This record gives sequence, structure tokens and C-alpha cells, in this order.
Amino acid sequence: MAASRARRGWRSRVIDHTHDAAASSWVEGVDEHPDFPVQNLPLGVFSREGETRRIGSAIGDYVVDLTGLAEAGLLPDALCPALSEQTLNALFRLDAATRRALRHALFAVLTDPARQRAVVPWLYPAQSVELHLPFAIGDYSDFYVGIHHATNIGKLFRPDNPLLPNYKHVPIGYHGRASSIRVSGAPVIRPKGQIKPQNADHPTYAPCRRLDYELELGIWIAGDHALGETIPIADAWDRIAGVCLLNDWSARDIQAWEYQPLGPFLSKSFLTTISPWVITAQALAPFRVAQPARPEGDPAPLPHLWDAQDQAQGTLSIALSATLASAAMRGNGMAALELSRGTAHEAMYWTPAQIVTHHASNGCDLHTGDLLGTGTLSGPAPGSEGSLMEISQGGQHPVLLPSGEQRCFLEDGDELTLHARAMREGYRAIGFGPCRGIVEQAR
Ligand code: CA
Repeated sequence: MAASRARRGWRSRVIDHTHDAAASSWVEGVDEHPDFPVQNLPLGVFSREGETRRIGSAIGDYVVDLTGLAEAGLLPDALCPALSEQTLNALFRLDAATRRALRHALFAVLTDPARQRAVVPWLYPAQSVELHLPFAIGDYSDFYVGIHHATNIGKLFRPDNPLLPNYKHVPIGYHGRASSIRVSGAPVIRPKGQIKPQNADHPTYAPCRRLDYELELGIWIAGDHALGETIPIADAWDRIAGVCLLNDWSARDIQAWEYQPLGPFLSKSFLTTISPWVITAQALAPFRVAQPARPEGDPAPLPHLWDAQDQAQGTLSIALSATLASAAMRGNGMAALELSRGTAHEAMYWTPAQIVTHHASNGCDLHTGDLLGTGTLSGPAPGSEGSLMEISQGGQHPVLLPSGEQRCFLEDGDELTLHARAMREGYRAIGFGPCRGIVEQAR
């Protein structure tokens, strides 16, 4: 009974003093910081020059060294072994109560001025450290839950019938490639592949000419279960460690030739970029909002994918945007152009819990550090599309850049950045930090 109560408490989101909008940190500049106020406390992995990787959190323009705080006795002893690792995997195998104790202890040392002297030696300017993949990623899958994206893309191929008949019954996904996931800042080397223009008789092997981005969220898995077991939807939030930004770079010309009959393969697996900080499920608790009602006439989800509480507070109030700065724009000191702006909760037809439950519904085992992409999160209105394929309507309507250049797809030298902020009335907004890449010529 105690375990089931604890599970229910976790699933129903704990909002506590660490989410108080009035909370203030003694660390300089934190209370005004757009991404990392003390209400956020994201987790990640960093290194200082010439040193091994350590676990940290972002606080304002600083990284606080959690491995160091633990060694100095400033965090609960139970966390010390997990915080001495070089990935977050051991930490997110611990139960939710122990992980919440980390959030509470970190919040306490960063808000209590009496702890300032002890903590300052473990604060480093963010520019002075390198950020790494937060987890050893065992597996990566990518979903397709952005219904407006699925509709926009479907219309390019099937104007009268854009959504396939399974879409509103099954959270559609495919297996991605874990080895080519990198953190923000990694170069985007233009992929090469088989391309067959519509009027050509034969394919050629050539650099991609229709390179695109996809604006997505990534869901990090916490905890493990055995092969053959499933995850009841009521327990799914127990298995969500947190969320990041995810750019599923896509080679549209390679994709068009290869995707039938088994779906995307080399058009996606050349690189996936993520934002390096894990915005924890605990930090996101206030931003869990009601899933928009299914339109009249849509089928109800099957019972194993349905939970009234999940519908009431299971999706995320997160503002999303993508910006582009060409090499010429950066050279002339021009600001990046906003390509799109939308929200996660308007875009997602299926909730994070439904994604997680569906993934394990056949008995597939999910493990700590697995990454699940949501799929491109385009909104319902023009200006909220999450890919250039949609913005340029398949390459027919170019975007005009402030430099006078035009873009249907990404050119070498282009810098593409994804942005996300969890926002809700009455709470301090928290940001994700950038998810960025600059396109380099094919090798
Ligand atoms: Ca995708």
C-alpha cells in the first residue's frame, strides 16, 4: 500500500516550495535569468578543461558541481555514489523520493545565504566548462505525435487524405539511432546518400540537397523494467526522468527515396542534436496541463492508453521556437530570424505518458537513459511549423532572410537553433538552454 500511495503521489505531480515564483538565489543574476532560475535546477554532465566528467546543474550563468557538493558533504549521503558517476544513469535509477531529496537539498544550498561560502568554490562560469551527453543512451526511438506536422506532411503526398487510418489509434514511431546523438554545438556535417529526383531514371550517391531540421522534445527514461513487462499508463510519469530539446535533422531527398516500405533510415541517422540539460519531471510539475480534448468524432484511445488523470494534467505547457542565422547574417552582425513559434501542448495528439506506455505495451523493455523523441511539434496556425519542409511547402515557397538570401532548406554555414521555455500563469518560467548546430559541407 505504501508503495502504491507513493507512486500515486508522484504521478499526480508534487508542487512544493522549490516551485515558488518568489524564491530567490544568492547566486548573482539568477533571479533574472531567462532559462536557469533556482526553480529549474536541471541536471547534466560537464567537464573542466583537462578534467574528467562530473555531474552538475545550471544556475543562472553558472554550473554548480554536484559531484563536488556531494564530496564536500553538502548533499544527502545517499546520493554520493550516483553523483560520483560520469553520466546520470545511476542517479535516475534511484527512486523518485531520493531524487526529490536532491532537488530539495540543492534548492536549499542555493537559496540560503549562510551556505554561500561553502558552495562558491563549486560554482564555475558556464562558458568555462564543456557540456556532454547527460546519459549513456542505450536506445533511441522517435515518435510522430505532432498531429499538425503529420497533417502538413501528409498533405504534400495525399492532399485529400493526409492522416493515415492508424494515426488516431496508435502513437506512431520508429527506431532511431543512439550512436549519432550529440549535444548542442556539434557540427552538422551535410549527409550524403542515394537521391533520385522525380524525373530521373536512376538514383545517384550525392550530398543531400534538401537538409531540414525537426523541432521536437526528447523524453528521458528513468528506471528499468524487464523484457515482457509493460508500463501501466498510471505509472508512466514515474518512468520519465525529464525532457530536453531534440533536433531530428532530416535529409528530405534521401528520405523520399528510401522511406518505403520500412520508414526513415539513413535520412535521419546521420545526426540527432539535443539540448544538454535534463529539465527534470520534478521541475516540470507546475507546467503539466490538460491535454486538449480530442476533436468531435475522433476515436477514444484504447483503455491501456487512457487515464483520466493523464488527460487532466498530462501534457506540457512549453513554448517552442526555431531560429536561423546564415553565415552572411552572422558575418554582418544580424540577429537570427525566427522561423516558427508554437507550443508543445497544442501540437501533441498523444501525451508523454501515452508515448511511454505505448512503447512498452508489447513487452519491450525501457531502461534508464533511453531517449524518446516526440516527433515534430508544429502548431495548428501558419508560423508555428516545426520544419522547413512544412514552411517551404515541400521546397516551393522559400523563406526570405534579412540578408536578402532565400531558403527552402538549409545551406552550408546556416546556424539553426531550437528554444524552449516552460511557462504557466503563477509560476516562474524555466528555459531549456539552446539546441544548436551549424551546417558544414559534406565530407
Ligand atoms: Ca522526427
